[in-house]
Amino acid sequence: MFDTLSDKLESAFKNLSGEGKLTEINIAQSIKEIRRALVAADVNYKIAKEFTDKVKDQALGIRNVLNAVRPGELMVKIVMDEMIQLMGGQSVGINTTGTPGVILIAGLQGSGKTTFTGKLAKYLKEKKNQKVLVAACDVYRPAAIEQLTVLSEQVGVDIYKEIDNKNPVEISGNAVAYAKKNNYGVLIIDTAGRLSVDQEMMDEIAAIKDTISPSETLFVVDAMTGQDAVNTAASFNDRIDYDGVVLTKLDGDTRGGAALSVKYTVGKPIKFVSTGEKMDALDVFHPDRMAQRILGMGDIVSFVEKAQDQFDEKEAKRLEKKIKKNKFDFNDFLGQMAQIKKMGDIKSLMGMIPGMSKLKDVDIDDNSFDKVESIILSMTPKERTNPELLNMNRKKRIAKGCGRNINEINMFIKQFDQMRKMMHMMSKGKGMQQLMGNMPNMKGFH
Ligand code: GDP
Repeated sequence: MFDTLSDKLESAFKNLSGEGKLTEINIAQSIKEIRRALVAADVNYKIAKEFTDKVKDQALGIRNVLNAVRPGELMVKIVMDEMIQLMGGQSVGINTTGTPGVILIAGLQGSGKTTFTGKLAKYLKEKKNQKVLVAACDVYRPAAIEQLTVLSEQVGVDIYKEIDNKNPVEISGNAVAYAKKNNYGVLIIDTAGRLSVDQEMMDEIAAIKDTISPSETLFVVDAMTGQDAVNTAASFNDRIDYDGVVLTKLDGDTRGGAALSVKYTVGKPIKFVSTGEKMDALDVFHPDRMAQRILGMGDIVSFVEKAQDQFDEKEAKRLEKKIKKNKFDFNDFLGQMAQIKKMGDIKSLMGMIPGMSKLKDVDIDDNSFDKVESIILSMTPKERTNPELLNMNRKKRIAKGCGRNINEINMFIKQFDQMRKMMHMMSKGKGMQQLMGNMPNMKGFH
């Protein structure tokens, strides 16, 4: 996420690393680079200028006070604080009060409204224990109703739809009545979008809003479109005065301009960010965590939260026992891979770990997991619980079974052995240095 921006900012800070202290000259120089980086990331020039002016004032103000802090670090801290402010300071939650709480989803076609509706339904159901109903009000694109039906089944929530009714205002009103009657806690209304902002669409969404008086209106926008995203967000807000923004497609090579400038330009907070097509690729937006990610400091808090969501204490205890006895086997390994996969896309997880975001060509992706999985699945149950059994004949059979060559099987088994050894040593509390010497090389599986 925002790799280019991160790199450019990093180089602006790096130039300060040889300096003993912040001076007017080196501040001016790095300010110029920071501004360039922001503009290249599609932040509007006026915003970038105002931002860097503030950073400059602060840097000049404290440069003689904080002598103990290195200039580069001081600058990173100042930029981070300003970035957090630019993106709204605090995380703002959504309002689901009401019986039911009604959430209206608006945005252009293709921005990711329907996908987000599915994700939000899942989030409210699983994280907020809500009984959720989604309603399909996109009557222009027949596939949209079908798409929401599939997603609602996937995330396990009910859907309200009227196949023959072509009046979205009427359908939305009916959906609210239906949700009320059937005691749903939250109703999410997915609406139609057009390819560009037009009067008819604005009238329609405004009429829906008037009819159902939602507790929350969210505007969904594709972050890849940069400044256009911000402009569209502004014109929608002028007309329907929504409560918050959802930025989608932050997993692509989004430059960051939209995330950084939407709050400033429109005055409405970003509430969620969407980072993939899977139903759990949704994050509550936190300005501080986003700033840390942009500045290459990873987002360890989100990572830990994701890990905690998946964490099963009993299973962890069971594994700990097995590792202590050096009995960790291929089945346990499969189980662990499944856990990691559940956390989402591997690359985006890596991006959250400080330092890891720098590894551009990490050799681990969902694909390498599939390959390892296919190797393990070609083993007999006995082999899976007794890795020691794997002799040459067995390895050849496994290679045939999963369609890989024998080298790949050998490499994987070697890595597995090393990992097992390492975990065993860790469980006995061996020193870190000794562990590093035994670190398996995870490269080669792709
Ligand atoms: P709608 O027309 O606004 O309802 O948009 P859709 O929900 O149908 O999304 C349009 C396309 O974008 C679909 O192919 C989605 O799978 C994809 N999409 C939606 N959100 C994301 C996201 O966060 N990341 C990526 N990579 N694709 C997304």
